[in-house]
Amino acid sequence: MKISSVIAKAVRDTTPLGRSNTPQVDVEIVHMNPMVSSGSGRGDKDTFDPPWGEAICVVTFDNGVWGVGLTAHAGFAVPIINEYLAPMLIGQDVESVADIGELWDLTTTVTAAHIGAAGSTSYAISAVDLAMYDALGKSLSLPVYDLLGGPAHAAIQCYATGTNVEKNAGFGFERFKIPCPWLARGAEGVEATVAAVEAARSAVGDAELMIDCWAVMDVDEAVDVCNALEPYDLVFVEDYINPEDWDGYGDVRSRTTARLAAGERWFTVRPFEQQASLGTIDVLQPDPLWVGGATPTVRIADVARRHCVDLAIHCAVNDAFGQHLCFALAENVIGEMYIGASTSLAESYRSTPGMAIPVNGVLVPSDAPGFGIEITLDGIEAAT
Ligand SMILES: [Mg+2]
Repeated sequence: MKISSVIAKAVRDTTPLGRSNTPQVDVEIVHMNPMVSSGSGRGDKDTFDPPWGEAICVVTFDNGVWGVGLTAHAGFAVPIINEYLAPMLIGQDVESVADIGELWDLTTTVTAAHIGAAGSTSYAISAVDLAMYDALGKSLSLPVYDLLGGPAHAAIQCYATGTNVEKNAGFGFERFKIPCPWLARGAEGVEATVAAVEAARSAVGDAELMIDCWAVMDVDEAVDVCNALEPYDLVFVEDYINPEDWDGYGDVRSRTTARLAAGERWFTVRPFEQQASLGTIDVLQPDPLWVGGATPTVRIADVARRHCVDLAIHCAVNDAFGQHLCFALAENVIGEMYIGASTSLAESYRSTPGMAIPVNGVLVPSDAPGFGIEITLDGIEAAT
């Protein structure tokens, strides 16, 4: 099949995607973190809301089959897809996963030389790569996990992310992660974080528990937090420092024995390969909608295998994309479902129509072709 069109648009109404338009963050943010999309803070100077919502990309083959991909930050992702990537991709042949991989190499190589393949560009490439996988699966009448060699797990063991662990236990989850993005500086921040973990630990008993620090700490704070949390037997401490503090990961590693997780804010395969080679990280957490799509996520699974670390795809069971990747990749150990303030799993952050929902914390993806996303072109039109 040849690619006949690549078109991206900003999502303006998420209801056709099966969820409401209300923010789903359930924590009060008191420390400026530009990566956090909503929340109330101490004042205007302490919070920043990125102005762009999601982007949706449709890739159509000359057999008439089309596939859909999603990403964040439509403000830049849409023009990068429509004006920069589409002219490079239209007319290219896609018969296999290997062909999609070659096109990922093409787009990342060209953009790296011009505008950078990481950051903004990576969001755009993600949506296109996912849409190509979806269209290929539909063309071959195969779910994406079968394009990738078939299921590697009988089912995906899931955990719930959110401050209200009791509520999430009520959804049937038995593994939990709490976000702690409100960090004050220094000792006060360490104290607040320990108090939050202590409360969660007493609520969930000896269940698996993790913490996500939303990348707000510096190296010294991260080390203090990791060491102070040692008695609470966490599975891992996630996103503890600025995601571009490349040397900082090694500094933290050398000063704590905590299991360390990072990667949702890294782009392309390179940072995963570099940090895994340095031995700084125990759990790699690429986000298929941000890191560049399914192609780099599969390659990062290979990084995990070669360096004997775990893979735990970011928000893996929040959408059909992550679900299929988790199911197919043997290296992925657990599936995250971000719940936050959502009151329904079916309408949680990023949900896509027709996707499977965890039952008692366990999930098997839809076996419909592609990613099994049940949206029509009219539905996409209504959303954009
Ligand atoms: Mg996270």
